[in-house]
Amino acid sequence: MTRTVYVNGEYLPETEAKVSIFDRGFLMADAVYEVTSVLGGKLIDFQGHTARLQRSLDELQMVSPVTMEELLEIHHQLIEKNDLEEGGIYLQITRGAGPDRDFVWPDPEEVKGGIVLFTFAKKLTEGANLDNGIKVISQEDLRWGRRDIKTTQLLYPSFAKMQAKKAGAADAWLVEDGFVTEGSANNAYIVKDGVIITRQLSNDILHGITRAAILKFAAEAQMKVEERPFTIAEAQEADEAFVTSATGFSQPVVEIDGVAIGDGKPGPVAKRLREIYIAEMPKTAL
Ligand code: PLP
Repeated sequence: MTRTVYVNGEYLPETEAKVSIFDRGFLMADAVYEVTSVLGGKLIDFQGHTARLQRSLDELQMVSPVTMEELLEIHHQLIEKNDLEEGGIYLQITRGAGPDRDFVWPDPEEVKGGIVLFTFAKKLTEGANLDNGIKVISQEDLRWGRRDIKTTQLLYPSFAKMQAKKAGAADAWLVEDGFVTEGSANNAYIVKDGVIITRQLSNDILHGITRAAILKFAAEAQMKVEERPFTIAEAQEADEAFVTSATGFSQPVVEIDGVAIGDGKPGPVAKRLREIYIAEMPKTAL
């Protein structure tokens, strides 16, 4: 099926959607993005995603070409036009296309930002990764220092994931100064003696929207949470490990650098949090 996508004010078949070769998103990764999951044809945690989007835009002095209300309407139109029940919506806002390639960015009054959205259908509530868990390998974190801004500079995470794939794993956990920052496209957690441990928020990691929801549900379920860095060695000694992301919810990690975590099977905490997430989040979906 040909998807209908949104590009710079128009809804078009994906085969007809085009952007300028001078778009700074294309030339310089001068762009921010969000991925919002869709369950039952509704957007999960849309407010969380737009709040983070606005923050990313502000941090980069970028101006959105549409308001957040218009953005919601575009999301809804795309869900309807593509008959999307379960999956997600990718949204990217760029600094737009200047008259030429230039390190100095154009005045937002003169050059309007670019915007692209498209849907993807995907089963989020079931899958082999959930039943079996995933294997990860560690990789040095060589990304830039503002990982809290959700930019499209994804070459290094992509590289790290390819390294993982080559090694027979599903993902990479990135390590800086001896401590895990996060996964290539998710936040990382371990569980030891009933305590959930995940790195604290800073410029070193993306402030996961799913992370915020999962930690809130964990606290409500009287689970103990410690927000602090942990090493790969500590993770390998943990009872359980997992990752969170908008389209993965919470996914168990069963092996790190070839070492089985706990009994090598998906752990109960990730499973319970996932169940709570899937039960609760649709209540506030838009
Ligand atoms: N960390 C990184 C580096 C990511 O790219 C992502 C998602 O793309 C996440 C964490 C998880 O964030 P969220 O839960 O908002 O999807």
